[in-house]
Amino acid sequence: MTESGPRPGEAEPPVLFEARDLVKRFRTRRHVVQAVNGVSLRIPRGRTVGLVGESGSGKSTVARLALRLLDPTSGELNFDGIDLMRVSRAEMRALRRRMQIVFQDPLGSLNPRMRVVNAVGEPLAVHGLAKGRALVDRVVELLERVGLSSADVYKFSHQFSGGQAQRIGIARAVATDPDLIVCDEAVSALDVSVQAQVLNLLKRLQAELGLSYLFIAHDLNVVRYMADEVCVMYLGQVVERGDGDALFRDPRHPYTRMLVAAVPEFAPAEGKGRRSVPRGEPASPSDPPPGCRFHPRCPEAMRRCEQEAPVLRRIAADRVVACHLFDPADAPPVYSPVPLPDSLPDSTEASAT
Ligand code: SF4
Repeated sequence: MTESGPRPGEAEPPVLFEARDLVKRFRTRRHVVQAVNGVSLRIPRGRTVGLVGESGSGKSTVARLALRLLDPTSGELNFDGIDLMRVSRAEMRALRRRMQIVFQDPLGSLNPRMRVVNAVGEPLAVHGLAKGRALVDRVVELLERVGLSSADVYKFSHQFSGGQAQRIGIARAVATDPDLIVCDEAVSALDVSVQAQVLNLLKRLQAELGLSYLFIAHDLNVVRYMADEVCVMYLGQVVERGDGDALFRDPRHPYTRMLVAAVPEFAPAEGKGRRSVPRGEPASPSDPPPGCRFHPRCPEAMRRCEQEAPVLRRIAADRVVACHLFDPADAPPVYSPVPLPDSLPDSTEASAT
């Protein structure tokens, strides 16, 4: 799809979830860690928004902020018209029926002392949706929906493989008929062949149940397969956002180009554009560089980049980028595999919307 827009031939879906200018700072004894710094994103109903970036980019913190498992330092969160920053803890607990999460470690996220019926049935019991025989029947139905069987209902988690355990985690996540599921590195711990099965299961459930996903992963192939729209994060900030396929075909931000260049399947064809060569390691979120946070590693860095933080600007209908290379008031872009429009819309976005 185009960014936050309809797929060809479809009406634009309503927005289910929106985060604006999310900030999260953690205080340690010596430092203030800026884990998330002004992140905005929007998830239309029935769609998947992917979050990619290296370890420490703040992806998983965004996941927890989205569900209010962590309280933001500042920012706005809206779920289906409800201002999540204004709801009480009790109201938030009730809303979690509609907002679920699938974790990375399928076996570690299941209580080894719990039988499957209790693990999958727990959210049903907590939210008062089923009990007794009805709860068991619903768990069996959920297990069958995710490719397990009624014979599994009284087993313990250690009796399952990693892929089967993740299916249990997914059954638990969909038990309460949620609208939004946050998948936090949900297939990262699985073998590649099992990953594909679990990704296909998630896609099938999305089609059957109308689910929206916030899909977080460091594997670009996985995100490309799943996401309608992708947000690329670096040191707590979104640096590029756009249509999933187009973004990987034609990355614009030097950091996105670095990520894409590291994946052989995505590497640019010979002679097409300039290949970015990354330098060094990401800085610490407790001491981010001034100006553009990527400038110490950026092969395109200019003097301005050391002093002035770039803001997200719309550079095409389906793309926003935070990089001075795309600021029309400054030097022309030095990397432009696809010609930029003659006149850039002046819809500067201090935050993505
Ligand atoms: Fe590189 Fe400058 Fe763009 Fe940052 S703003 S990504 S340092 S060119």
